[in-house]
Amino acid sequence: MLQPPPAEPGMREEEVDTPALLLDLDAFEHNLDTMAALLAPTGARLRAHAKTHKSAVIAKLQMARGAVGQCVQKVAEAEALAWGGIPDVLVTNQVVSPRKIARLAALARLCKVGLCVDDAEQVALAEQAADAAGVRLPVLVEIDVGMGRAGVEHGPPTVALAERIAASRHLVFGGLQAYHGTAQHIRSPEGRAAAIAEAATRARRTVEQLKQRGLECPIVGGAGTGTFRHEAASGVYTEIQAGSYAFMDMDYARNDDAPPFRHALFVLAQVMSRATPGVAVVDCGHKGVAVDSGMPGVWGRPGLRYAGASDEHGKILIEDGAPPALGEKLRLIPGHCDPTVDRYDWYVGVRKGRVECLWPVSARGGMA
Ligand code: PLP
Ligand code: MN
Repeated sequence: MLQPPPAEPGMREEEVDTPALLLDLDAFEHNLDTMAALLAPTGARLRAHAKTHKSAVIAKLQMARGAVGQCVQKVAEAEALAWGGIPDVLVTNQVVSPRKIARLAALARLCKVGLCVDDAEQVALAEQAADAAGVRLPVLVEIDVGMGRAGVEHGPPTVALAERIAASRHLVFGGLQAYHGTAQHIRSPEGRAAAIAEAATRARRTVEQLKQRGLECPIVGGAGTGTFRHEAASGVYTEIQAGSYAFMDMDYARNDDAPPFRHALFVLAQVMSRATPGVAVVDCGHKGVAVDSGMPGVWGRPGLRYAGASDEHGKILIEDGAPPALGEKLRLIPGHCDPTVDRYDWYVGVRKGRVECLWPVSARGGMA
């Protein structure tokens, strides 16, 4: 059920009801501008990953700064963006349920929608759905560039699958999906560079082999916030799929050479108990902030350490400096931004201490 927003425009930040998903608009706009400026000289274009923000509003702001489209992870996210007016959406995943592919094919009447495959069976399903809907769907082959998750082996197996797509009447071969996820959080810059060098080599060889068979790759897509500078400089990748850069979480801040983005996303929490000496308990546990990539940080309060999360309690240890008062509101920096956003219905956009806007997290939740 959609919850009423926890704030109204014009309110002071301290008045926002908690827990609330706070977006610092100055930091957020800085991040969007920085990504656009970093990619401009490389020739690679941004197709930002909307699994992070789940918002047609944010997608539009990214596209206004030059992004060519959006990535999504599932059909429900593609629907939220297409219905929100986004013209070009790529599902960076396999879709194997006939009903879901039918929904995706229906969206192709509203905007451009593509998807990824790593098996001939998925090609057959997509062809059937596109035929039934009377549309043509761009289909990319996902190749394994080193993370061992989804993806066909690069080289000849990829060429064979691409030829199958190209031979399908209602499908168009869209290129390669070449994302290396585990490389994003390798802490050392050298380790990250080496992983992407190998990914780019696999992608480059495959692009050449496809070309020999007369197949061009309109898209070679991949990259995230931790490695995008390498993919963008490779000369092989045409589209960069970073998502978290817009918000910048604690996990990305822990990379040795953290990317040049500011923390823009916070969960505003309130101190609800000071009964235990040295401890402040806030009303935000792991139902309010994702802890799968580590505990949240406490913004602007280096002496406070968020040490443990239960369902609806966050335990903050007072290690140094002024202790927070009962009722005080603290900004938590999520360990992992994407699943944190998915827990909220509204972004509360703040600038210089005042609420400026409320944006719905329109693609939140849902399994599809
Ligand atoms: N592309 C794909 C296919 C992904 O699964 C992800 C994240 O997991 C990303 C890109 C990059 O996202 P981020 O920049 O948030 O790490
Ligand atoms: Mn993530």
